[in-house]
Amino acid sequence: MLQPTAKAELSSFELVRHYFDLAADRLALPDDLREVLLTAYREVQVAIPVRLSDGRITTFHGYRVQHNGARGPFKGGIRFHPQVDLDEFRALAALMTWKTAIVGVPFGGAKGGVDCDPSLLQPHELEKLTRAFTQRIDKVLGPTRDIPAPDVNTNAQVMAWMMDEYGKGHGYTPGIVTGKPIALEGSFGREAATARGLVYLFREAAPAVNLVPQEATVAIQGYGNVGSWAGRLLSRLGARVVAVADESGAVRAERGLDTDALAAHVRDGGRVADYVADGVEPVSGEEFLATDCDVFVPAALGGAIHAGNADLLRCRMVVEGANAPTTPQADELLREKGVFIVPDVMANAGGVVVSYFEWVQNLQHFRWDEREVNDKLGTIMRRAYREVAARAAKRPGDGSLRVAAFELGIERVVEAARLRGNF
Ligand code: GLU
Repeated sequence: MLQPTAKAELSSFELVRHYFDLAADRLALPDDLREVLLTAYREVQVAIPVRLSDGRITTFHGYRVQHNGARGPFKGGIRFHPQVDLDEFRALAALMTWKTAIVGVPFGGAKGGVDCDPSLLQPHELEKLTRAFTQRIDKVLGPTRDIPAPDVNTNAQVMAWMMDEYGKGHGYTPGIVTGKPIALEGSFGREAATARGLVYLFREAAPAVNLVPQEATVAIQGYGNVGSWAGRLLSRLGARVVAVADESGAVRAERGLDTDALAAHVRDGGRVADYVADGVEPVSGEEFLATDCDVFVPAALGGAIHAGNADLLRCRMVVEGANAPTTPQADELLREKGVFIVPDVMANAGGVVVSYFEWVQNLQHFRWDEREVNDKLGTIMRRAYREVAARAAKRPGDGSLRVAAFELGIERVVEAARLRGNF
């Protein structure tokens, strides 16, 4: 049995494949088509030797997996994390294919990154590594080919370096990456978009478990971009964030945490476990998972909720900010307990939706104000929820949103590929 705070054993690709198969069964997809849809179009793996400040050369490994481009240019984030590998990028790229199809933006799916730990690198080393990585995958990128964005441990600054490096060979091309700084044609609202989309969906889903969003209590696992914005936006809505964790540990506050102050603490390099304030107590990872709350928001890494810890959760709803945070076994366990799950492929799609807005603005060198971005995001997220929920309602035995969402995504990709004459 896994330790409650350990990661899942199941490989990321097995996890994504599991839901793909369930949805493909329902769609009665033939085997040959399944094989096509499970196989990535292109997998690039590169060695990135970088001389670091200690004078020695460290060889990092970089990846870019382009899963399926039937519905548009490949799209997906760049992740910097010491434990990434090809299997994980394959899984995450496939998730992007279904995600973009579910929300109906004209992109395919991709993912990539480097096996580095940015917390151990100086800013100029990180820049050097980002530029060297960009040079090595340059040929498969392009504003009509493949458009990266931020993901775990990458941000607007990393996107700015990528755009600059790409521009050296191709000329000024803001549409080559999304999630850029505002000063470089980034979009208003992009930084908070993933969390904002999550909150829109939470509000749509809340009535399914008789929750009033403004009165909900929330626990958030991970306080990076998605977690910290989810915390702040949920607090502004009136909900109470009662517990937050990151890899350093966790804190709990019965009366609710000051999510802005905690975000500032983390932004200044602080760890969640070291956050001190009135009424805030440090708790263990297990105690955090067992927090009595209405909504649990995983916003850290994949596989965080697995068979070894799902039983600890005491919430009514899980809204997945992270990609692939829940293993199939944990998903089943939670649903048996009556927990309502809003899956990653819809819950965290707000990021790529506003990436689409950013790309559209870049192609026109035009700018929308933040209200327009947020309103348009809301319209798309609510539509996606309605469409997925309607499909789930047709399956009285298993009304899970996840399988219904996969069905919808796969169906749209198959239709696009057929119309193009791809098979
Ligand atoms: N990394 C984000 C995701 O997993 C955003 C991807 C994008 O905007 O292209 O959805």
